[in-house]
Amino acid sequence: MFCPQCGKEYSQRVNFCCQCGTALSIPVSPLNKKLTRSRTDSKIAGVCGGFANYLELDVTLVRILWLMLAFFGGWGIIGYVIAWIVMPEEPLPQASTATAGSAVPQPAGNR
Ligand SMILES: [Zn+2]
Repeated sequence: MFCPQCGKEYSQRVNFCCQCGTALSIPVSPLNKKLTRSRTDSKIAGVCGGFANYLELDVTLVRILWLMLAFFGGWGIIGYVIAWIVMPEEPLPQASTATAGSAVPQPAGNR
């Protein structure tokens, strides 16, 4: 990435240009970022993985925080169930390719 103001290049991801102070974080549209249950980082329902994706945190950290909430008064359990119900599941990666392909004839007698 490089600074759009002064053109200084950075090999690592930095938040601000050290020369001119311009914010260099890649703009993420809040409309594109949805809080969804993760299919990949999922132990129970993917709630923690979804929160980790959304907040750009380590999923393990989210799980630890959630478990701590669960042990202190049980809010974590209630919150998890609520999140499970409310949060939509992450869309499948190849959802659009799932066409009416079930009608494809299978080769018979070829085991
Ligand atoms: Zn700069």
